[in-house]
Amino acid sequence: MSATAIQLKTAAIDVPEYDAVVIGAGFGGMYALHTLREQGLKVRLFDEATGVGGTWYWNRYPGARVDYPGGPFYCYTFSEDLIREFDWPEKQPDQPTVLRYLNFVADRLDLRRDIELATRVTGAAFEEGVQRWEIETSKGTRVRAQFLVCAVGALSAAHVPDIPGVASFKGECYHTGRWPNDRQVVFKGKRVGIIGTGSSGIQSTPMVAREASHLTVFQRTPQYSVPAGNTPTDQVLVAEARKDWSKFRNIMLTTPIGAPDMPTTIRACDHTPEQRRETYEAAWRIGGLGPILVSTYCDILTDRQSNDWLAGFVREKIRAVVKNPETARKLLPSYLIATKRQVMDEGYYETFNRENVNLVDLREDPIIEIAADGVRTESGHHSLDMLIFATGFDAITGALQNINPRGRGGVPLSTRWKERFNSWLGLTIPGMPNLFMIHGPESPCVLYNMPLGAERQSDWIRECILHMRKHGIGAIEPAPGADLVWAKEVEEIANQSLYPQTESWYTGSNIAGKHRQFAVHLGGPAYFARIRESADNGYEGFVTEPERRAATA
Ligand code: NAP
Repeated sequence: MSATAIQLKTAAIDVPEYDAVVIGAGFGGMYALHTLREQGLKVRLFDEATGVGGTWYWNRYPGARVDYPGGPFYCYTFSEDLIREFDWPEKQPDQPTVLRYLNFVADRLDLRRDIELATRVTGAAFEEGVQRWEIETSKGTRVRAQFLVCAVGALSAAHVPDIPGVASFKGECYHTGRWPNDRQVVFKGKRVGIIGTGSSGIQSTPMVAREASHLTVFQRTPQYSVPAGNTPTDQVLVAEARKDWSKFRNIMLTTPIGAPDMPTTIRACDHTPEQRRETYEAAWRIGGLGPILVSTYCDILTDRQSNDWLAGFVREKIRAVVKNPETARKLLPSYLIATKRQVMDEGYYETFNRENVNLVDLREDPIIEIAADGVRTESGHHSLDMLIFATGFDAITGALQNINPRGRGGVPLSTRWKERFNSWLGLTIPGMPNLFMIHGPESPCVLYNMPLGAERQSDWIRECILHMRKHGIGAIEPAPGADLVWAKEVEEIANQSLYPQTESWYTGSNIAGKHRQFAVHLGGPAYFARIRESADNGYEGFVTEPERRAATA
């Protein structure tokens, strides 16, 4: 026997083999593990965290809650048992509740035996000869699998901006998306600074202000935020949902963002100014994102005038709440409302009426540097004991790019995605056979009910794998040019909306050097019909290779 043969034999013994490896133990990865395992596949799931939960494991900052749609609709929808067995105390469940739910699901579906925590996937390479992915982990282990399911999270690659001196701060320092899980962060008696006023900054600001001796909010772009209007869960609604879950689920499958609310068909211009005010006021009183964005007018995100009317209404509300006119002026946003991720809050604007809170408008007073004891802006030094980065994520693509899988010919994802984030159906990437994404670019991901979207994509992936097994297919990947067809479709739909007209993390503009691309498919149900259509047409847009060796299952 030659030395090479011995090596190969050793490798075959040493490297555990699975049908599928799933990366990520959030909503998407846990469901993918469950549904693939139910089909008899041998699956291993890796996650860097020490617990399940994905986003809800990491984002433990004070004030973190589901915004829209809330419990009992922001959860797994595939199982009536799960719907019946978990009680959601609030319409907008807080982070500990969602994390408790995901732990409950992990136990209830007996997922933990196939989940390896505290294990980051550090690399993955497709071995063309055997049509398998070889996956490396932070523990120095390697496994092999025919399929690689990347449920790595659209908002998981935390972003800390490259501000001069950023590493020199000597006080406590946190990122909202990497909040510590081993201790309680104490704000009491401390001078705290928060950089960033997206969802995370706006949710945490009122909570921190209540405890800290002083809070400085460093704002680059003012945001439109609407009152959360959180309430205890409507028990009548829950009872109805539990009685006829398939009815509720079927509605969610047809609405544009997978929420239970049917959008209105009324345009803003169909109403008089008085009617519009009444409509906005009613939605404002209820609170939450659904009433204001889905139930007022259908053209907020497609018509500039409609958008401007709502934006004007929210600006008025900000002026009415914030007592100091100069602070109110700084808080007034001017971009097209809801074209950055719409935010909701629990007393954000009111927080600026507190004596212990001040706002620094970075457009007028930019940060010069971060020093050991605070932040220096053009106008002076802000002494701080604690600095919180609420500065967001390298969204949608960052987490997978960090793994940088190598596909055909050893070509890494960094090369494939150098010019644009290309995909076919937002599920697969050219040159990356047998790699599937959940909530990847060019899918509805962040603009759809994420647990439901993950279920629907995972179901598609499961069916694709079963189809391959049934037909002796060893590898599947996008056909040449399919990604261009898809890119055109994604772009055409996006251009019917106002979204691409604003710089946001949807377009990649929050990350220096990232190319601009509106990376979300806005089709909602049409997207899911489209991926269904491809499957029904024998996986149209894909090319396949016959299986070269026997499957493991
Ligand atoms: P984000 O929306 O990207 O906000 C980041 C903030 O940091 C922005 O205000 C940004 O300003 C600011 N920033 C970035 N770099 C900066 C710099 N160099 N100097 C000063 N300011 C800087 O991030 P996020 O708040 O973590 O939210 C991300 C997404 O996660 C949300 O949009 C949402 O989809 C999701 N999320 C959801 C929930 C929920 O469901 N409850 C809660 C939290 C987050 P600019 O606007 O000027 O770039």
